[in-house]
Amino acid sequence: MSSVPEPTYESTHSALWHGFADMGAVSKNGPFVVSRGDGAYIFDREGTRYLDATAGLWFTNVGHGRTEIADAVASQLSSLAHYSNFGDFVPETTLALAERLGEIAPVAGSKIFFTSGGSDSIDTAAKLARRYWHEVGKPEKTLIVGRQKAYHGMHVAGTALAGIAVNRENYGTLMSDARTVTWDDAKSLLALIEEVGADKIAAFFCEPIIGAGGVYLPPEGYLQEVRQICRDHDVLFVADEVVTGFGRIGGSWFASSRFDLQPDLMTTAKGLTSGYVPMGAVFIAPHIAEPFFAGGVWWRHGYTYGGHAGAAAAAMANLDIIERENLLQESARLEASLHTHFAPLADHPRVQEVRSGLGAVAAVQLNDPAEALPFVGALRKYGVSGRAAGQGAMQISPAFVMTDTEVEEMAGRMLTALG
Ligand code: PLP
Repeated sequence: MSSVPEPTYESTHSALWHGFADMGAVSKNGPFVVSRGDGAYIFDREGTRYLDATAGLWFTNVGHGRTEIADAVASQLSSLAHYSNFGDFVPETTLALAERLGEIAPVAGSKIFFTSGGSDSIDTAAKLARRYWHEVGKPEKTLIVGRQKAYHGMHVAGTALAGIAVNRENYGTLMSDARTVTWDDAKSLLALIEEVGADKIAAFFCEPIIGAGGVYLPPEGYLQEVRQICRDHDVLFVADEVVTGFGRIGGSWFASSRFDLQPDLMTTAKGLTSGYVPMGAVFIAPHIAEPFFAGGVWWRHGYTYGGHAGAAAAAMANLDIIERENLLQESARLEASLHTHFAPLADHPRVQEVRSGLGAVAAVQLNDPAEALPFVGALRKYGVSGRAAGQGAMQISPAFVMTDTEVEEMAGRMLTALG
């Protein structure tokens, strides 16, 4: 047997392969190890404190260090860790969570299909959209339409229908029947429908705010316009609220509620548990569920850990906190606060524009996309943990507990770090 060759790369001897990373650089520079979190802050191994500009990967809506959620999970795991929701099984807490989500759903009477995270939710919605048309006698409606710049997770369907070409490259054909349209122009959706025919199109996937693709807010009236186009042409409207759901949009549970979009399907994850335990959920409007609930139809789809009982307990405790502490209103406060305090950064010569004013999100778009990653590193020296999204945009999406003073401090530190 031949011996294992020595690696040609420099290595910090960590066994970990990070997601979305140049592992050569990570191995050389070493990882940024996060040890603890508290509210809007995280701490590294040395105990240095950082303002968490991004709430992890857009998920810690209620902030870090909520022992109430940890206790709810521990208590659930002690009585029943999980069982299954295949067939007629369901853990008691999972059933209670489904009822609770049904009550806050943007479409009354929605059904809830649980998943293990956002990418699962997207796959579930893409499959269900096609399967729905099959059930109602239109099996040729299979094309899934997404938007340029959009991000829909990293499973095969989500990678194929999203609008970030570089994420799709070098895998061959991921999924047939996926197309993208211009991200900010409803007319381009109309043009595609006219080109291929509505009788071929299953669904249009739409992030109300484009998140990981660079934090782009929808133009005024855009969401209502694409919603109407879908309605007029019998194309299912899928709101991808993995980022915007559970309060991130400000003032409401979902962007779909704030803009009265009445989505046929809505994908969620992240803020459902504030990321304390992985979980996702797809909200399914009653008319889409109907053919599957009429009797005699099996949908052969599901995930072992979909609706995991421990995750359901985390979600229940998370929703309790959001309601008790009025965090939907706090998110609306952050919408205004981020808009005010980040506006001055737009005048810096390294900054192209600041995008804010909808939801507890903002982006500082650097002129030179290549500067974004080094800037993430530089920012840490000023006590801010940041992240580059899309092409050179610094993502700002704090926990809803971040105060206005902390927002001002964070914006000030970013300005200082810009030099
Ligand atoms: N959809 C959107 C809009 C997202 O931002 C993400 C993740 O960032 C996903 C889907 C995929 O979620 P996950 O990473 O939990 O699979």
